[in-house]
This record gives sequence, structure tokens and C-alpha cells, in this order.
Amino acid sequence: MMQEKDEGSDARVIDLEPDSEFRFEVDFKTQIQIKILKGTAEIFGTELAEGVEYSFSGRKAAVYTWHGCSLEARGTFLVEYTANETPMTSYLNTHLAIQQLRSTAKASNELGPRVLVIGPHDVGKTSLCKIMASYAFRQGEKPLYVSLDTAEGSITMPGAVTATAISHLIDIEEGFGSSATTAASMGSTTMPLAYYYGYESPSENVKMYKLVVSRLARTVKSRLAADPESRTSGIIIDTSGLIDPIGYELIQHAIDEFSVNVVVVLGHERLYSDMTKIYKDQNNISIVKLNKSGGVVERDKQFKIQLQRSKIQEYFYGTSKCELSPYSMLVNFNDINVWRVGEAIAPSSALPIGMESKDNETEVVKVDSYDMCLHSIMAILNADDSEHDNKLLESSVVGFIYISDVNEDKKKMTVLSPSPGRLPRRHVLMGAFKWMET
Ligand code: ADP
Ligand code: MG
Repeated sequence: MMQEKDEGSDARVIDLEPDSEFRFEVDFKTQIQIKILKGTAEIFGTELAEGVEYSFSGRKAAVYTWHGCSLEARGTFLVEYTANETPMTSYLNTHLAIQQLRSTAKASNELGPRVLVIGPHDVGKTSLCKIMASYAFRQGEKPLYVSLDTAEGSITMPGAVTATAISHLIDIEEGFGSSATTAASMGSTTMPLAYYYGYESPSENVKMYKLVVSRLARTVKSRLAADPESRTSGIIIDTSGLIDPIGYELIQHAIDEFSVNVVVVLGHERLYSDMTKIYKDQNNISIVKLNKSGGVVERDKQFKIQLQRSKIQEYFYGTSKCELSPYSMLVNFNDINVWRVGEAIAPSSALPIGMESKDNETEVVKVDSYDMCLHSIMAILNADDSEHDNKLLESSVVGFIYISDVNEDKKKMTVLSPSPGRLPRRHVLMGAFKWMET
């Protein structure tokens, strides 16, 4: 994707007092630059290096400083202002309390804290998770970062639930840098752990969502058991922001599956109060309430769609900082098995008594209409060729492909893949995500 540099917009120097931040928003079509001239500053917990110019596009974020700094900003911002009131001290204190739990875990070689961050949409959950992960990393910890937010796809692709070990600094410009860690290493052990759900909202297929979350939790736990470094650092879990009755059910499900012992409720009194009530008899679970930052911005539907698109684009093509060249290839219909999750076709009234139309919510059906595949994103499943149909959904994801063309006559599909050569596995799962290359 080409991004224009804005000419003619002069560089400005902005001085930040201790414990304040510079908040900004920049459009997807423009690029802005920020450079720290003096002092120290961080973006969502990751420190900016002095004198280095960072570029941003399609971002809403804040440069925060604990001790004061002076920065240079260049380019056209949609929004830019300085704020002296931030919840950063309370976020740091929460991190320090969690860090205390890690020390206790280390002393007895136990499992470190399992922290779940919940709250409505757009209250800063993902930002807080990044801050806590960065602070942990800066103190020598290696926590596992789990994202249960299928709309955002912060670690790999929208539609997936994922886990990755925080073993390096979160990139200032690219966040988790899905391009660098995912696409380039399809099938390798450094690919983040992912299970494919395939829809944006967990409420579209609750049963399947729970199934992939359970699978992810099981694998995360066994990874923790095998990795002494991560084990005592524990898990930080980001969630999707559903707080309706289905959301409550899913929060409790996640708490059970990941054996969560710290629940951080962000920006919602009622949710905090409800959680305190639900878990009042379980004194091994602490519920913590934090305020949302005044800087958090609501992202409209359009912004979220653009964010998803740029995530998909990034998966295949990388970013301007780390470009990738995906491979386009022809695949015979016979060499690939495309599955999707069955939907209730018949209304309950048309079914035999006792059978519910929801029964196939977690059953896969083979996709024979190849036209349906056109422009779809598909997850390559880590399943043997002979794998039983019903086990497929429990398979983790090896990588993702995109179907750019379908030729029914020749019985071939054109597939975009991050790796060359044959597809590593033949079973692929199709979700609801479509994409058009731009
Ligand atoms: P949630 O995960 O709860 O939906 P996010 O953490 O993604 O919320 O925050 C919503 C948006 O606000 C994101 O684009 C994020 O980068 C931005 N944001 C968060 N904190 C700040 C802040 N202090 N200043 C400016 N923007 C922020
Ligand atoms: Mg989020």
C-alpha cells in the first residue's frame, strides 16, 4: 500500500510535563512522524528511543511520559492534544501488584498470575493489556499474551483466537507486528498459536467460540507447563468487549478455562459490581476496577473495517517497514478440502422432535460450491489428511490463505499464500471474512 508523505507540514516541538501524554489520531491515508528529542517516553508501555523517528498511519495513540520529555511531531494529524490527566499511575500500580504475584509464584515455582481484562468496547482493554505486557517484559518477564477478540486480530488475523509469548519488545509502529511474526514463519514454531473461529463477534456462534477458546486454553496451559520462563510470568488475556448476557457467559467461560485469578474490569461500574457478586465466594479470584483513560477513542464501524482490512493486507504483504512477498499459485480442487461450519438450515419446527437446529453449530460441512470460496480468507488447519471431520475445529492454525480466483471449468483456484510451494496441509476452514486486494 502506498502512503503519501505529507510535504509542507512543518515540524513542531511539543514539551510534555511529567505524567502527561500527547494524544493523536492519524488517518489511514496519511503518515505522521514522531521523534523524542529529550527525555523519556513510551507508547502503550513500550519505550521510544531518543532521536529515532517513528512513523504512524491509521492509528489512535498516546505518547506518555513519566518524567517529562520534548518531542517533535511532523505531518497532518486528525487530532492532536496534550493531556495531564491519565490513569497511568493506577495502571502501573496494577502491574506492580501482578508483579508481586509473579514473585510469589517464582518462590514456590507455581503458575504465575492469569489476568483477564474485561469491559465494554473501546475502553482501552487492548491498550492496557499491551501496557501490562510491556511492563512485565521490561522487568524480565515472559508472559503469554492471549487475545480472545476475534474482531480485531491484533496478533494474527481477524476471526482467530490467539496466544503468543512476549519474548521481545512490542513494536512501537507495528504493535504485535503480525507480518513479521506470522506470515514469514508459516508452519514454524514461532507462529503464534491460533485457532480459527471465523466470525467477527463471539455471539454469531457461541458454541463454536467456546470450543476454540477451550482448545486455546488447553494448549496455552500445556505450553506454560513446558516453559519454565513463561510459567511463573503467567498469562495476560485481552477480550472482545461483549457485556450483554452472552458476554457474561463468555467471561465466566474464559475465567474457568484459563483458571483466571485476576479479573481487571475497565471502565464499567456495573460489570465490576456484577463480577464481585458472581465471584464473592471464591477468594482465590481478585476483581480489580480501573478507570478508562480520557484518551481512549471510540472507533466507528468504518475505522474497524479498515483496521481489519489492513490486518489482512499486513499478513500477506507486511508493512512498509517489513515488506513481504506472498506467493500466488494454482491449486487443484482435488488437492484441497474446504470446510465451513454448518449453519442451521431448517427451522426447529421442521426437524424431528428433540433435535435442535443449533446442533450443527460446531459441525463442519464440506464446501463444494467453489464460487463460495472466492475472495475468502481461509485458515489452514494443522490436521492430518485423514483427520475425522469433527476433530477439524479442534486443530490449530498453520497459516492463512486467500482465494483470489476460482475457475470452475478447469477445477482450479488461485491462492495467495505467505509461503511458496505446496500448501502444508489440505484441510482449510472458511469463515465469514472476505477481502479484496487493493
Ligand atoms: P478496547 O480494546 O477496549 O476496545 P483499545 O485499547 O483498542 O480499546 O482503545 C481504543 C482506541 O483508543 C485504540 O485505537 C487505542 O489505540 C486508542 N487509545 C487508547 N488509549 C489512548 C490514549 N491514552 N490516548 C489516545 N488514544 C488512545
Ligand atoms: Mg480491544
